[in-house]
Amino acid sequence: MVINFGAGPAKLPEEVLKEVQKDLVHYPGADISVMEMSHRGSHYAAIHEAALQSLKDIIYIPDNYKILLMQGGGTGLFATVCMNLMGRTGTADYIVSGSWSAKAAKEAEKYGKVNLVIPKTSKYTSIPDQYTWNLDPNASYVYYCDNETVDGVEFNFVPDTKGVPLVADMSSNFLSRPIDVSKYGVIFAGAQKNIGTAGITVVIVRDDLIGHAMKITPTILDFEIQAKNNSIYNTPPTFIIYVMGRVFEWIKRCGGITAMESNSLKKSQLIYDVIKSSNGFYKCLLDSNCRSRMNVPFRIGDANEELEKQFLKEAESKGMIQLKGHRSVGGIRASLYNAITIKEAQILAEFMTDFYKRNE
Ligand code: PMP
Repeated sequence: MVINFGAGPAKLPEEVLKEVQKDLVHYPGADISVMEMSHRGSHYAAIHEAALQSLKDIIYIPDNYKILLMQGGGTGLFATVCMNLMGRTGTADYIVSGSWSAKAAKEAEKYGKVNLVIPKTSKYTSIPDQYTWNLDPNASYVYYCDNETVDGVEFNFVPDTKGVPLVADMSSNFLSRPIDVSKYGVIFAGAQKNIGTAGITVVIVRDDLIGHAMKITPTILDFEIQAKNNSIYNTPPTFIIYVMGRVFEWIKRCGGITAMESNSLKKSQLIYDVIKSSNGFYKCLLDSNCRSRMNVPFRIGDANEELEKQFLKEAESKGMIQLKGHRSVGGIRASLYNAITIKEAQILAEFMTDFYKRNE
């Protein structure tokens, strides 16, 4: 048995993998593989529409929003957001709460003026109170990352931007809890964590933010062109969109967004509880009000690298893989995306308890 606790590309539900395997050579009714279908043909059109519809079945998306399926990953969207939105005033607010929002802010500097909403820090362990934020009323948008995959910082509230459009990177917590889409200007999420495989980014964008792309914007990154063409302006990654559609169906079968949220709370609580009851053997430096349900980073003692190595080795020998922290921060990180079961999180929690009792 192997349990993949990787941060992404991450575990996919086995049910989905089996369905994909079944359809791989002969897609029912088409007799060719999805990978061989024309993106303009009726079979693919049905797959594409079904994926969009399933997403709308999972979260309510108001009529004044479009769903776009874009390429270039989360990183591509760092630039795409700027090119489409920043032209309005030439300036944007960035809430830098971890490594990914820091990267997005750096990318944005190429396109306009970046205002940092919270003070710069080298370690990301908290989110300062909103009343201390330095928001610019002239900003084209306020950008933040809802869940920082590397640092494990997750927002437990929607930032109040005083009417300025809010842009959220939800790459690593998308569809793990309900989303009030109406509070956002743009939401984007790379698929390879909670909703599929690498190669597609879901973008949900409010209509009034479409049609303002800078002149330099490459055609395929222009929200307006993608919206007008239902994200089939050029060849989309058809197979990847098909897999994502299957994951959406799986989420629906499992009980939808409320089930995903309740599972995520249970799974993360199991791990945080072991950390808390370990008498300081395991350390999670994050403030308790921003601890991620998706990525749980922790250290052993005061960064005891020898013991961490031993932990990872023993975990791997028991089939628990990809628990190593991101290379930029080290330590250990358990990623608990939608496809990880409560039982699997329990197995990790039990191993953690056993390991600490043997090594404290
Ligand atoms: N944002 C977040 C929150 C991420 O976790 C990642 C990747 N792990 C990215 C953006 C970048 O995504 P990509 O590798 O698809 O460019």
